[in-house]
Amino acid sequence: MNAPLVHEAAAAAGRGSDIRITRVETIPLRVPLTSPVKIASGAARPFVELVIVRLHTSEGMVGIGETQAWRRQGSAETLSSLTRVIEDHFAPHIVGRSPFEIARIMKACDEASWHSYYAQAPVGDALFDLQGKILGVPVYQLLGGKYRSELGGCAVLYIKPTLEETLEGAADFHARGFRSFTVKVGLDLDADVANVRGIRERFGPDAIIRVDANAGMGFDGALKLLKRIKPFDIDAAEQLLPLHDVDGMAELARRVDIPIMTDECVANDHDLLHVIFRRAATVVQTKVAKNGGLWYSRKLWHIADAAGMRIYPGNHPCTSIATASVAHLAAAWPGPLLDGPFSAGICGALTEDIVTDPLEVRGHLVRVPDKPGLGVTLDEETIRRLRVKM
Ligand SMILES: [Mg+2]
Repeated sequence: MNAPLVHEAAAAAGRGSDIRITRVETIPLRVPLTSPVKIASGAARPFVELVIVRLHTSEGMVGIGETQAWRRQGSAETLSSLTRVIEDHFAPHIVGRSPFEIARIMKACDEASWHSYYAQAPVGDALFDLQGKILGVPVYQLLGGKYRSELGGCAVLYIKPTLEETLEGAADFHARGFRSFTVKVGLDLDADVANVRGIRERFGPDAIIRVDANAGMGFDGALKLLKRIKPFDIDAAEQLLPLHDVDGMAELARRVDIPIMTDECVANDHDLLHVIFRRAATVVQTKVAKNGGLWYSRKLWHIADAAGMRIYPGNHPCTSIATASVAHLAAAWPGPLLDGPFSAGICGALTEDIVTDPLEVRGHLVRVPDKPGLGVTLDEETIRRLRVKM
């Protein structure tokens, strides 16, 4: 009964081994945000800039991956630097290769440009997308099989001018089913404390509250904030200090009884080991772009798990493509995960998506796509409209 299926799979795998990548296309886009994104440092952002990599093959099949030009807290990348690195320095190592040679290709890209995780992310994810499409399976099947079908997202509350606006935004998320809130802090101590207190009082003991300063605070201010918000049962305090101050994070972790989370100061495995050896955090956030896509993020999750850290699946505001990348990684992850900000873009931060089949969001839950590859398809009309001329 199963024999024809086995033959089909074998035939697909056989065909796959002949397929070669013929072209590496980069698509720089600018997607407006629904309301300006304001965090502790830098001006408010009206849009997010992202680059889609589309790998073309000899059989006409394509694979896609996404990264963002964040230009803040550990990211110096711009649309032009990302497209140039990918086209000039990565493409020569990709064209002519099989989409299944991911280890060889990722190593070659890493050697072609040091610390280029933001540029490598869409390449590795597009290779996984292609592999899944060639074999006719969703990416989670390539990562270990399906362990969960849905993944919980958290509400990200950016800095607003008034407490009322912050609570209004939180109430909107709460009405949609969100129970985890990440409150952006670091500009005004009294306003930060008022926001945290307001959310706790409004939504009661079931709300999970985390704060995030995006590396924008000094040690004294961070210590003062943690002491003042401690009565409100904080699940974790994310990246309060600058990237270089891992010892400061470790000191905060010893001085205050609130779990410390690391985000921006972990780009790669060495950074994460640095945090672990200093016991500077017990929670880690990964992001598709920051950490080099599925290929490297999975490694970080394994290291974090071995160190007993909690894992917080994240992303910069992004489209369904980078969201799908985390969703597949999470789908195949056989351990606990926190409700994370990985879906902030498709949960309301972006004005529009760029795929014809956006990820399904039900309340705060994102459904893992079951179609082959990442399970999302570029909308040609939308990318034509949002494309940035380089
Ligand atoms: Mg963060």
